[in-house]
Amino acid sequence: MMRRLVLGLWLLFLAPLAQAFGLTPQRVAEDVYALIGPTGARTYENYGLNANFGFVVTPEGVVLIDSGASRHGAQVIERAVRTVTDKPIRWVINSGSQDHRWLGNDYFAGHGAQLIALARTVRTQQQFAKQHLAGLKPVLKDRLAGTEVHFAPKPIAADGAALTLGGVPIELHWYGDAHFPGDAMVWLPRQGVLFSGDLIYVDRMLGVLPWSRVGSWRSAFDTALATLKPTLIVPGHGTVCDAAKAQHDTGDYLAWLLGEIKPAAENWAGLETTVEKYSNESRWRYLENFEALHRGNINRSYVQFENNESGEVPRP
Ligand SMILES: [Zn+2]
Repeated sequence: MMRRLVLGLWLLFLAPLAQAFGLTPQRVAEDVYALIGPTGARTYENYGLNANFGFVVTPEGVVLIDSGASRHGAQVIERAVRTVTDKPIRWVINSGSQDHRWLGNDYFAGHGAQLIALARTVRTQQQFAKQHLAGLKPVLKDRLAGTEVHFAPKPIAADGAALTLGGVPIELHWYGDAHFPGDAMVWLPRQGVLFSGDLIYVDRMLGVLPWSRVGSWRSAFDTALATLKPTLIVPGHGTVCDAAKAQHDTGDYLAWLLGEIKPAAENWAGLETTVEKYSNESRWRYLENFEALHRGNINRSYVQFENNESGEVPRP
């Protein structure tokens, strides 16, 4: 009887372990993998890994694209890499400055990885680090333990870089501020694969934050697609896709904000009136998180357009 009780208790403990959160590598090209995180909110269960990451296996080691939102999250990413290769993670590239793009840096640096980021990305990381850690604390609780900020020690001052890591050409491009200032993209010219970071969201609604720049985001998006012509995109959020889907779920939405909300702001239509008029726009209802984000996106875009702060590049 006692023994059965003990066994029962054991199973109770094992059950949550069996469903522990993990990321499953999705092969997108030879030696190139995407790690597709959930499209919902940051939660304790998902370690704040509600975004996409990726890695490239080279003869000399692994190149990781984005390091997760915490030390524990970094270890979840590492476990996923380990299902594919035993090679050391030698390089970590940060495509952006939002928590899940880089707060796992310290863990990987502590295990010998070199941190790589553009200077303009690091500047925003420095600006937001405290705020992002404070925001994560009530969500990740003990799972934030041990997380230390760690910036790339020699950030790249240019707007782009053509690197060769482990013999593989890997480019880093900044085409304009987007979700956050300094958002960059990681481009694999040989494979035609683009890790877009937070410049591209598919399946779910993108978020316009007070410091996002709708106009510059749109032009950066257009420039990236026209210049790089990716065959495959690993978006910042959502499933692996082609350029047409990225256009549909991100490009068209940004163009819609510029096409509808910008004239409203310029014609003094009024913030509340505009939000009411467009907040039920059925065209975007198919995107996950529509209810949570669309209204706020209109609101913040309006304010930006009103103040001429969208960073829009004049179009020919
Ligand atoms: Zn993100």
